[in-house]
Amino acid sequence: MLNEEQIWKLVDAKRAEFIALSDRVFETPETLYNEFASVAEHVAALKAEGFDVTEGICGMPTAVMGEAGTEGPVIAILGEFDALPQLSQAPGVAKHSPIEMGGNGHGCGHNLLGAASLLAATSVKDWLAKNGIAARVRYYGCPAEEGGAAKAYMARDGLFDDVDAAISWHPSTFNAVQHGHSLANSRIDFTFHGKAAHAAAAPHLGRSALDACELMNIGVNYLREHMPDSARVHYAYLDAGGVAPNVVQAKATVRQLVRAADLPTLRDLVARVRSIADGAALMTGTEVEVKVYSGVSNLVGNRPLEEIMQREFDKLGPVPFDD
Ligand SMILES: [Zn+2]
Repeated sequence: MLNEEQIWKLVDAKRAEFIALSDRVFETPETLYNEFASVAEHVAALKAEGFDVTEGICGMPTAVMGEAGTEGPVIAILGEFDALPQLSQAPGVAKHSPIEMGGNGHGCGHNLLGAASLLAATSVKDWLAKNGIAARVRYYGCPAEEGGAAKAYMARDGLFDDVDAAISWHPSTFNAVQHGHSLANSRIDFTFHGKAAHAAAAPHLGRSALDACELMNIGVNYLREHMPDSARVHYAYLDAGGVAPNVVQAKATVRQLVRAADLPTLRDLVARVRSIADGAALMTGTEVEVKVYSGVSNLVGNRPLEEIMQREFDKLGPVPFDD
């Protein structure tokens, strides 16, 4: 039997239990380092499959690693299982239909991402054992893909240092191998500190932190025309300074998410965004406090492996669609 036929047989043999795992994770959507039920499901599956399991890696309670095999090259397969806020959705319904209004939901498909990666690691483990091949396969259960950058901590702690190949995937609207499709990015919180005052009785005594956030966004808007095409800057107000329009906002925070093709371009762009924040503070007589919330590198692809994967992908043909 050809190797690839053998491995698909091993995948199919366990697909039902891993589809069930995906469904259970879908039913308990948890976000950003709070994936306690979801990681427990993955830990249980890893143990049932005989992996050596290390829980709470890198000090992250919802991260897990499972390894099989004792020698030879190391193949890493990365999975994720976090949900997104406000995307609660009934399964199998092709219109907006929240189970819980405003609740979490797996809009990004990370229930599939974790379960299928774990099925892949399990199938590789079974294939290595069946063929008596000396190699190790690892499943990295990565929390907080959405906004938490857990893999950066794993890289910092050397968890990928002995890895020969790392494979990841993400649900999408089409099936294909993509080369380096993830931009380097950094989330930075800009908190402006001004002075509260009654906006009608003593406006001249106030210094508005909210004005500073707005001017910063205007500055970033003008920056957008003069940055590389592939770069992106998005923002969200974390604190707009309160609900009273008649009180000058003494404190306000805007989070900027800066993306660029690689780290040098990202660093340059971040420096320009920081200068805009300084300018906004200068214009409004406020002070700015800068806190880097997260920073990750762009994804570096591996062409030869990607070409092999695409060839194998093509043999499977298109996905079957229902009505
Ligand atoms: Zn995602």
